[in-house]
Amino acid sequence: FSLASIIFLLLFAPFIVYYFIMACDQYSCSLTAPALDIATGHASLADIWAKTPPVTAKAAQLYALWVSFQVLLYSWLPDFCHRFLPGYVGGVQEGAITPAGVVNKYEVNGLQAWLITHILWFVNAYLLSWFSPTIIFDNWIPLLWCANILGYAVSTFAMIKGYLFPTSAEDCKFTGNFFYNYMMGIEFNPRIGKWFDFKLFFNGRPGIVAWTLINLSFAAKQQELYGHVTNSMILVNVLQAIYVLDFFWNETWYLKTIDICHDHFGWYLGWGDCVWLPYLYTLQGLYLVYHPVQLSTPNALGILLLGLVGYYIFRMTNHQKDLFRRTDGRCLIWGKKPKAIECSYTSADGLKHHSKLLVSGFWGVARHFNYTGDLMGSLAYCLACGGGHLLPYFYIIYMTILLTHRCLRDEHRCANKYGRDWERYTAAVPYRLLPGIF
Ligand code: NDP
Repeated sequence: FSLASIIFLLLFAPFIVYYFIMACDQYSCSLTAPALDIATGHASLADIWAKTPPVTAKAAQLYALWVSFQVLLYSWLPDFCHRFLPGYVGGVQEGAITPAGVVNKYEVNGLQAWLITHILWFVNAYLLSWFSPTIIFDNWIPLLWCANILGYAVSTFAMIKGYLFPTSAEDCKFTGNFFYNYMMGIEFNPRIGKWFDFKLFFNGRPGIVAWTLINLSFAAKQQELYGHVTNSMILVNVLQAIYVLDFFWNETWYLKTIDICHDHFGWYLGWGDCVWLPYLYTLQGLYLVYHPVQLSTPNALGILLLGLVGYYIFRMTNHQKDLFRRTDGRCLIWGKKPKAIECSYTSADGLKHHSKLLVSGFWGVARHFNYTGDLMGSLAYCLACGGGHLLPYFYIIYMTILLTHRCLRDEHRCANKYGRDWERYTAAVPYRLLPGIF
C-alpha cells in the first residue's frame, strides 16, 4: 500500500461501512439515495447522523458478552472435536516457519467454538426463548459502534505492544512510517501468554463465528416481517454457512495461509476482522430483509450450482496444495504423481531452505485458481439478491479487488523469495486467475 492509500483507508473504511449500513437502515439499501438527498439539499449529513441509532447499554452488554464468550471458548476449552470427527485435524498444531525461524504452536478449536455457539443460539433463541433470534438485526447499528471500539482498541494495543513488549522481537517489522506501522502491523504473531494468538483469534472469532449467526438473525427477521423466509435468503444462508464451516473444518490448513504466514497484525487485520468482515460480508442477508427476493426455481438452481462449483474449485485447489506440501509431493493429484518445481530461499537468519511449487492439478491451470473459485462463490451470493440494487454486489466487487491485489502482493513476495525459481514457475503456469485472460 502507498502512504496515500493507507491514509485513505484509515479515514474512509469506517465511513464506507457506516454508509452501507445506514443506507439500508434509512434508505432501504439504496446506495445513491443518501448521496442524492444530500446533493439536492433534502437532507444534510447532520440529519442522517441524527437518525442513526446510537450505541446502547444493551448492545454494549451483548457485545462484551459475545467477545468474552469467544475468548473463553478459544482460550479455555481444548479441542475435543478431533477425537470423534474422522478426518478433522484439531488440537495443538504447528504454524509455518516465520522469517526469523520461529515455529508457533496453536490450539485449533474453532470448529468446536462454532458448534457450541450455534447450539447455544438455537437452545436460547428457540427452545428457551431467552432472546429473540432477531436480536442481532435489532441491535445492528448499536453493535457497529461496539465493534469499532474493539477494532480500534485491539489495533492500538497491538501497535503499543509491538514497540514495548513484542512476543518475538526478531519478527517485528518497523517501516519508519507511523501510519504504515499502525495499519499493516508491527508484530508478526502477537500473543498474550503462551496460547492467546491475536491473529488466529481475531481472524476466526469473533467475526467468522458470528457470520452464520448474523445470517440466521436476518432470516429470522424476514420471517417476522413477511411471515416466510425467501429462497434467496436460504441460498445465502446455506452457501455462506458452507464457506464458514469449511473455514473451521480446515482451520489447521488456515495456519499456512497468507494471513497467518505473511501478514503482520495491525489495523488491517484487527479492525478488518472486527468491523469490515461481519458488517460487509453479510450485506446480502441484510439486503434481503429489506427486499425479500423470491427467485424462480431455475435461477435459484443456477445460482446454487455456481456457488457449489465455485466452492469445489476453492476447496480442491487449497486441498491440493496442502496435500502436496504436507506429503512433500508423495501423493496423487488428479490420479497422477504431481509435477513440481524445486526452489530454494534464504530466511532472515541466513539459513538456506528448500521448497517446491506444484504445477499439477488446479495449480497447473492458473497460479491462484483458489481465488477464482472463491470469486465464483462470492458472485453466487450476490446474484441471489436479484438485480434491484447495487448494494449486495459490493461483495463481489470488493473480493475481486481484494483477491487481485492479494494475488499481486503474494506474487511480488514469492518473486523476491524464490528469485529465478519463481520465474521458472511463472513460465510453466503463465496465468494468475483465468487461463488465457489474466
Ligand atoms: P494461497 O493459499 O494461495 O497461498 C499462497 C502461498 O502458497 C504463496 O505465498 C506460496 O507460499 C505458496 N504457493 C504459491 N504457489 C504455490 C504452488 N504452485 N505450489 C505450492 N505452494 C505455492 O493464498 P491465501 O493464503 O491468500 O488464500 C487461501 C484461501 O483463502 C484462498 O482460497 C482464498 O480465496 C481465501 N481467502 C479468502 C478471503 C476472504 O476474505 N474471504 C481473504 C483471503 C483469502 P510459500 O512461501 O509457502 O511458497
